Amino acid sequence: MTIHRIYKLNGGYICRRCINDDYHIHLRHRDCRYLPVQSTCPACHGTRNLVVGVRLSGQLKLLFKH
Ligand SMILES: [Zn+2]
Repeated sequence: MTIHRIYKLNGGYICRRCINDDYHIHLRHRDCRYLPVQSTCPACHGTRNLVVGVRLSGQLKLLFKH
């Protein structure tokens, strides 16, 4: 799984909480990079920091998720 694929599946970037819930992982705040401003998450419709990228530590967590 990649952030690019998550973007395509959801029609936009989603928040870290939704990624963790959807893929049963535990990305921490510092595992991710975010949009500079909070926006509406297309998955939970909350105003949140949307994940635009994942650092190496987070990529390892996403690697084996489908
Ligand atoms: Zn969300």
